[in-house]
Amino acid sequence: MLEKLKEDVFRANLDLVRHGLVMMTFGNVSRFERSSGLMVIKPSGVSYNEMTVNDMVVTDLSGSVIEGALKPSTDTRTYLALYQAFPGIGGVVYTHSTYATAWAQAGMAIPCLGTTHADYFHGPVPATRRLTAEETETDYEYNTGLLIAEVLGGAAPLTMPAVLVTSHAPFTWGETPAQAVHVAVILEEVARMATLTASIAPPGEIDKHLLDRHYLRKHSSGSYYGQKK
Ligand SMILES: [Zn+2]
Repeated sequence: MLEKLKEDVFRANLDLVRHGLVMMTFGNVSRFERSSGLMVIKPSGVSYNEMTVNDMVVTDLSGSVIEGALKPSTDTRTYLALYQAFPGIGGVVYTHSTYATAWAQAGMAIPCLGTTHADYFHGPVPATRRLTAEETETDYEYNTGLLIAEVLGGAAPLTMPAVLVTSHAPFTWGETPAQAVHVAVILEEVARMATLTASIAPPGEIDKHLLDRHYLRKHSSGSYYGQKK
């Protein structure tokens, strides 16, 4: 059942390794199919090079395993909170990629310092507040998902497809797992560039007119970037 979805999630997880965004068993990718209400996710603690497509786990929106012999990722409830909070998304990625995690550990939003950033994120990539002790000691993973939704506030998730969870790591998303992986790759590069820029000179944010030009030429009804489909 859901062979195509399992294949997508399996491939997307291997892409994290291919792009150097994960080490050991860090990170994972999930996909949510709105029509069936089912989520496919990587199993917990299974190494990427041992993992097979049949190891992918299928759960419903309450997190109950519908199909799969292995335990789903311990981050399952974070994903469920995000799929419930963000109606338009179908894929979520979570990594501990080096530079994006450094900004998460600093609890700092990544400022928009240039057009590379502006091409993907319509403003600074936000960092969450810290979890309260109660949030950590109760439904920690689910509360992490709520924290991500909280910092995004009313912004459309697909215009800001990334959030840094303070003291922890980055989460990215898209309509598909492949899109969420693409954003995770760009986020890591943008975080690295921002770190380098800050080490060269105290950075000034990009001008709004340039931010809008670059973001909207790629992500708006009037977009003209790329080849006509
Ligand atoms: Zn983590």
